[in-house]
Amino acid sequence: MRIATLGLFHEANTFSPIKADRDLYAHGGVLHGEEIVLEHGDASTTMGGFLAAGTTPDVEVVPLLFAYINPIGPIVADVFEDLLGEMLDDLDKYGPWDAVLLALHGAAVAEHTPDADGEIAARVRQRLGRDVVIGATFDLHANLSTRLIDALDVATVYQTNPHVDAHERARKCADLVISAARGEIRPRPALVPLPLVVNITRQDTSEEPMAGLMATASAIANRPGMLDASLIQGFPYADVPHMGMSAMAIHDGDDVAARQAATELADAIWAVRTDLQARGLTPDEALDIAGRAPVGPVVLLDVGDNIGGGAPGDSTVLLAAAQHRGIGSFLQALCDPEAVTTCMAAGTGATVRTTVGARQPHSPGHPVRVEGTVRLISDGRYEDGTPTHGGFRFFDMGRTVVLDTTDGHTLVLTSKQVLCSSLQQHRSLGIEPTDYHVVVAKGVNSPRAAYGRIARRMLTVDTEGITAMGIERFDYQHRRTPLYPFEDAEFGGGNR
Ligand SMILES: [Zn+2]
Repeated sequence: MRIATLGLFHEANTFSPIKADRDLYAHGGVLHGEEIVLEHGDASTTMGGFLAAGTTPDVEVVPLLFAYINPIGPIVADVFEDLLGEMLDDLDKYGPWDAVLLALHGAAVAEHTPDADGEIAARVRQRLGRDVVIGATFDLHANLSTRLIDALDVATVYQTNPHVDAHERARKCADLVISAARGEIRPRPALVPLPLVVNITRQDTSEEPMAGLMATASAIANRPGMLDASLIQGFPYADVPHMGMSAMAIHDGDDVAARQAATELADAIWAVRTDLQARGLTPDEALDIAGRAPVGPVVLLDVGDNIGGGAPGDSTVLLAAAQHRGIGSFLQALCDPEAVTTCMAAGTGATVRTTVGARQPHSPGHPVRVEGTVRLISDGRYEDGTPTHGGFRFFDMGRTVVLDTTDGHTLVLTSKQVLCSSLQQHRSLGIEPTDYHVVVAKGVNSPRAAYGRIARRMLTVDTEGITAMGIERFDYQHRRTPLYPFEDAEFGGGNR
């Protein structure tokens, strides 16, 4: 059995003014063939799970193309068309195929097509026809459309947040696809969209109400005749009609049973919709609590500057507040290539007076004036073999500088945005995060797997920015109405 695997992984924050262009894709990585194996063969990513299915007897998994970038604005139209065109050409060139495995995020938006994942799946289906089994694995933050699921035979979705099951869910998808291609099962997926947005800070799957909902999904998936079930959290910072939560179930052979199962899960989600909303601490409230905490580290989750949600990673809101309050013992990474250049020019051990952060037009806060000593200069590459959000193993911050300021702050100034999902971001530079009283992590869920291991307390801070937790602050033009919590919405009975 020959299975092609390929994908385009993009989470679009449509409120970001920075488009996903050719340069950013070149930066993030457009991998071909063996390059995919080198990067993902040992990784716990979706692609890693797909490749692992190649150890199944009589199954060959052939990696073709995988394009990845960090979350950012929509994909430039011709860049999307070129990448998708290359994917389709590769399928032609190296086929024929018994099956295809797509590594998609599920919240991709291109300038000319709001449902970019649906477009990819539909065009792959069109190219290969109905006889080829097509499966895809999605991030839990997918905004899934009916068009997308209609184009697929099998779809699985990460069921953990932070996402530590990408490999497992991809492997499940691959196993179902292999069984379907062998004629052993007839997967029938059904998607039930909900008129509901879950707040970004209520998505941790180890906490209620998500933990209970995930248990419901798992119980449904394990019933006789069922092949899988997924809760989908959705990605609220994409202003598209299909933005929101959904429920999915796959039955072996029965469309009606699949729909009933997905509806049951959707009903369970809808029943707790008020618990899926939240308000966070203001920066002042959070720093008050951190300042009073007898022991650290207190980890502040900078929600508004969530790199994993498409934010610039250079907000100075918390840094400025900490400086203003005279909080010493403070550690934070900031993406600021300009400050890196300044510090590198001064050299290791030099004293530098400069401003840091808030350089982008959509950066929250203002550049902050600092004086400090350049502790070290690094190439910014590190590796983390422990479970991290999304299963990534290799990280690249670009040229990186550690600056110890006269305020008692340690700033890790990076040239590229990197998810704050690994303690190795600091430890690879000789910084021990547990030595600090306050540590800022830019993110909501992605830092939890790593920072949960060291935090005496973790506080969710409602900072400003294009990933702010208060979604009522955003000017949506294309979302559905009614959509809870923006409006009262109805779900269930005849309203589905
Ligand atoms: Zn996600």
